Amino acid sequence: MTLTTKISGWGRYLAHDAYVIKPSCLSGFKAQLLDQASLIARGMGRSYGDSANSDIILQTTYCNHFIAFDKETGILTVEAGVTLREILKITVKHGWFLPVTPGTTFVTVGGAIASDVHGKNHHIAGTFGQHVVSMNLLLGTGEVVTTSCSKLHDLFHATCGGMGLTGVILTATIQLSKIKSTLIVQNTIKAKSLEEACELFETNITASYSVAWIDCLSTGPQLGRSVLMFGEHADIGGLHLKIKDPITLPIMPGPVMNHITMRALNCAYWIKAKHNTKLCVPLLTYFYPLDKIANWNKFYGEPGFVQYQFVLPKAEGIGNMRKILTHITQNGGGSFLAVLKQFGKANNNLLSFPIEGYTLALDFKISPSTVALLHRLDDMVAEMGGRVYLAKDAMMKEDTFKKTYPKWQEFEMIRKKYGASGKFMSLQSKRLGLT
Ligand SMILES: Cc1cc2nc3c(=O)[nH]c(=O)nc-3n(C[C@H](O)[C@H](O)[C@H](O)COP(=O)(O)OP(=O)(O)OC[C@H]3O[C@@H](n4cnc5c(N)ncnc54)[C@H](O)[C@@H]3O)c2cc1C
Repeated sequence: MTLTTKISGWGRYLAHDAYVIKPSCLSGFKAQLLDQASLIARGMGRSYGDSANSDIILQTTYCNHFIAFDKETGILTVEAGVTLREILKITVKHGWFLPVTPGTTFVTVGGAIASDVHGKNHHIAGTFGQHVVSMNLLLGTGEVVTTSCSKLHDLFHATCGGMGLTGVILTATIQLSKIKSTLIVQNTIKAKSLEEACELFETNITASYSVAWIDCLSTGPQLGRSVLMFGEHADIGGLHLKIKDPITLPIMPGPVMNHITMRALNCAYWIKAKHNTKLCVPLLTYFYPLDKIANWNKFYGEPGFVQYQFVLPKAEGIGNMRKILTHITQNGGGSFLAVLKQFGKANNNLLSFPIEGYTLALDFKISPSTVALLHRLDDMVAEMGGRVYLAKDAMMKEDTFKKTYPKWQEFEMIRKKYGASGKFMSLQSKRLGLT
């Protein structure tokens, strides 16, 4: 089944007319792959920019079968179009949770591998790709290969974080993590500044999960005041998971998120958070607060928004983070949703985003000044030895990408070796010079 339709990333910025192919089995994938000059796989379209967009899109969400689940070992094999939400519905009641999870369940396994997604436990567990036992990949030649850390390992390390540019992930086997309860013991601590927040990350380095909401609209000494939430899986409370469908809120004419509403929301959030409290919260509340609302990405109005996520190396990170935040506030940017996390060591995946340091994600409503501001931020991040997350990127320039992802040439060689060059391309890959 095929359809031409307007497609954009989750930020709704730069919609593009795409011819969408929706095969529901491998032979369908193969036939289309050999038929088309070039295409890109697309899962749930939760990447914010144009990484899952091209003239021709191979929609994977119709290949969403569970293949095997061992309740004793927590080893799960699924088709790549299965979502994390669908996995949780099946595995949590048997005491198995995702080893690494992004902030939404509306993500496919293929998308999670292709972006090598990270969660609130990167400092302990690394990325999603580090828990993939093996996967089956459809190459540009039409051949299907199995790849893992030990089998065709060059292809494996290019595919985890490879943004769909090495082939189509068909199935994946993942090692899940054991849990005893669906509750999270959440320890909330308020930090009066960015420096205090980073100190708290350091002193709580053994916490299983850590994340900070950061007020990026306050200035001066209060710049970066934060609410940190450390989490541990509880031992008590049992395994109960009620996943409800998200609600769709009415959208008012014009953007709901403007400078006044954002400032008010930031102040309200800071005041509401209770310092030094420990309480048990449901796992869904701790990990996926945004999943309660289906259409929150429309609150920024018609031109859409960009989520800008960058990482800065730990060594000089805090001072540099302050410089970037200052630049943002001085230039009228900033968002309600600003999230700070710590990253542990980088892995061997060639285009994987995390490097040891601090990462900040903020939303920017699209306006005439946004593009110039983000290009300036790109330059600052690159000069500081950091990089921008490809799953969120919508406008990075080719030279910035090549400077900040130094393994891109090795990546291109592996793509050539396995018949992916010229076959798997997205609007993003063309913009970044990966062809
Ligand atoms: C609310 C929200 C919270 C988020 N939180 C986090 C977070 O905490 N951490 C994090 O790391 N990310 C986070 N993300 C980003 C998200 O996890 C990634 O963008 C993820 O890749 C989206 O998966 P998807 O199925 O929607 O893939 P898409 O957006 O459809 O595609 C993303 C990339 O994966 C490729 N791809 C998809 N399926 C396949 C396949 N079968 N084979 C080969 N390539 C494929 C596409 O070509 C594209 O390059 C968040 C996104 C949202 C909207």
